[in-house]
Amino acid sequence: MGVSVLGRVRNARTLIREGNQLLLDADRGMVTVRPSPSLVEAFEMRSAKNRERQAAYAKLREVEPFSRCGTRITVMMNAGLRDDMPNLNLTGADGIGLFRTEFQFLVSAAMPQRERQTRLYRDVLEAAGDRPVVFRTVDIGGDKSLPYLRSENSENDENPAMGWRALRLALEREGLLKSQARALLEASAGHTLNVMFPMVSEPWEFEAARAVFEGQLAFLKKQKRKLPNEIRYGVMLEVPALAEQLDLLLPRISFLSIGTNDLTQFLFAADRANPKLAERYDWVSPAILRFIRRVVVATAGHPVDVTVCGEMGGRRLEALALLGVGIRRLSIPPAGVGPIKELVRKVDLEEIGEAMNGWLTSPPPSLRKALEDWAAERGIELE
Ligand code: PEP
Ligand code: MG
Repeated sequence: MGVSVLGRVRNARTLIREGNQLLLDADRGMVTVRPSPSLVEAFEMRSAKNRERQAAYAKLREVEPFSRCGTRITVMMNAGLRDDMPNLNLTGADGIGLFRTEFQFLVSAAMPQRERQTRLYRDVLEAAGDRPVVFRTVDIGGDKSLPYLRSENSENDENPAMGWRALRLALEREGLLKSQARALLEASAGHTLNVMFPMVSEPWEFEAARAVFEGQLAFLKKQKRKLPNEIRYGVMLEVPALAEQLDLLLPRISFLSIGTNDLTQFLFAADRANPKLAERYDWVSPAILRFIRRVVVATAGHPVDVTVCGEMGGRRLEALALLGVGIRRLSIPPAGVGPIKELVRKVDLEEIGEAMNGWLTSPPPSLRKALEDWAAERGIELE
């Protein structure tokens, strides 16, 4: 929505009094209480520059993101509610690479009935027109708990991010997945249905989830109902263990989406919601980038689309690093679409790929600094 938000500001309630002037700089994660006139002036100058940049990005709405060397990069956006859909036209994104279906569940006081789910998915497909939408089945649990969906399991979860969540929960509550499968299949009648399963850790979980969809499809066929023109199944790669079994999974899927939000928390064993750890590990680290490059290499030669759909891809420096390890498809928050399109047009993929190979072979003290210098030498802004 483009509204600046800053969370977990320490001592905010004691430091901020009613009527205080505040400067909120969400890009830098800073809030200044009762700023001096010179700080206000500097802030206003930065805001004006920001507005200029936003206006320039808006002009790129119709422009396709070809890299400097002529490769078309796919830049899609993430969404979760009906209200997100106008952003597709506003940003000129290539589609919805991640539709978080659990948002409808999170904003409801009770489990949304199947008909309500169908209506939402239909509206989303209609709004997207001929652009693809990837529906992720519910990713409930972890930091997205529902008061009306509890079990002995979830209440005893000492570590909910690694607990009874996402596909683990959906496979156990088969009624939930069945009803969502039916809603998605009905809504996609006459369209392509792209369905993606979250937190797949073992290939059998993918097979079990797919079987639920195939069961519902068989039922609809028997009823002689109109069906989707095509069903494409995909998984999210968020659990590192899955990377070790990609060879088994790749022949069975049409796409793979790397969820860097969860993937990094599991690779570093660092809770993504813990503020004490928020600054400790960098996305732009050899560990993460070598891991993603390994996945890209493992998928080469398979007709499987590989996308990064975590927040990482929405930031220019991080997106540059992803292009460097061979990522060619991104799905990011809407506010990132313009800035990333603009970045893509300035980058020579072979050049950044070569530089990245060098850095990942013998990592410099700071990969972030190496990327900043590389970009500065070419006049590419990363802010
Ligand atoms: C992710 O984990 O990177 C992701 C896109 O999913 P979510 O942030 O919804 O967990
Ligand atoms: Mg996730």
